[in-house]
Amino acid sequence: MQRPMIKPEHLPVRHGGDRVRIGGVVRGIAADISDPDGWVWALLELLDGSRTPDQVVADLVRRHPVRTDADVRAAVADLVEAGYVEDAGEPDPGGLSAGERERYRRSRALFRWMDRTPRRTSWDTQLLLRGARVVVIGIGGVGCTAAQTLVVSGVGHVHCVEPDVVELSNLNRQVLFTERDLGRPKAEAAVERLQEHNSEVQVTGARLHVDDRVALRTLATGFDVVLLAADQPQEIRSWTNQACVATGTAWVHGGYHGPQVSCGVYRPGAGPCYDCARVAERERRAGLPRQTFSAAVGEVPSHAANAVSAGIAGQLAAHATLSLITGVPALRTNCEFGFNLVTLQDSFALGLEAPRPDCPTCG
Ligand SMILES: [Zn+2]
Repeated sequence: MQRPMIKPEHLPVRHGGDRVRIGGVVRGIAADISDPDGWVWALLELLDGSRTPDQVVADLVRRHPVRTDADVRAAVADLVEAGYVEDAGEPDPGGLSAGERERYRRSRALFRWMDRTPRRTSWDTQLLLRGARVVVIGIGGVGCTAAQTLVVSGVGHVHCVEPDVVELSNLNRQVLFTERDLGRPKAEAAVERLQEHNSEVQVTGARLHVDDRVALRTLATGFDVVLLAADQPQEIRSWTNQACVATGTAWVHGGYHGPQVSCGVYRPGAGPCYDCARVAERERRAGLPRQTFSAAVGEVPSHAANAVSAGIAGQLAAHATLSLITGVPALRTNCEFGFNLVTLQDSFALGLEAPRPDCPTCG
């Protein structure tokens, strides 16, 4: 590292005379450092990107002679390892045009904020996105928002798979389509609109009904991440899981049960798979009293959705996809996240501690 600098997003704040907080107020990023004699604060002030590591050490030891070179170097190494420091003299990342740097300037700032992994340059996450290929299966409410976010975020290739045409009842939530698109194949209209959002990435589409394991296996083979935004056929999540476990492909799904939106994040080999959780859920239900559903109502409508519920599910799925590609933020994987729109409070993460030996897919 040529000229270490505390990331601007992680601005240190001194509380009284003996405690320093670095990383702001966001949980998961911030840390408190005990600093009774003030040398940590002095060190943080020196890490402003104007000094080499040797100059930082020399300046700090001069001000706090009780500290040794080794103390200071170890403290700087700890701050770098914790993700609070970048290199003001970082090498040119190469391969990003001036237009791309301008377009993604604010994404870079947010990634830098959330990122706790030391990187070669602050553009590395954007380069990872540019090199990534994602297939979005299902361009409905969830898929529209997810695909839009991936494309504007600079994912290098986004492929949209969807068999249907645009209908009037889609327009309350499927944000890629306009009234002019009524009757057009969604895959075609989506590709056109997405390419208007960002001509620097590749957007492709296929008017395809994904109705078996073979089709999913083919899609999983050709992409880095599968984003499943379709809920039909009924077994499609399990099929996607099987295809992704077999091919080693990371995948996410986004969806909703009325006002409860959810997102699953899976990386094969990193923990329990989707079917492990299904085995456990079947077991849990078997131990409960038998449920009887009211015949008067029939079934809970599965398509109750608006632009908020579908959009948040799509954004969660896109967020998880960006995380799988870049490692930022370092989300928990192999679990399900949910969010309740009625209370705006009851978010949850559900996942097993370990894979199930009796899982039909990965056991
Ligand atoms: Zn499993």
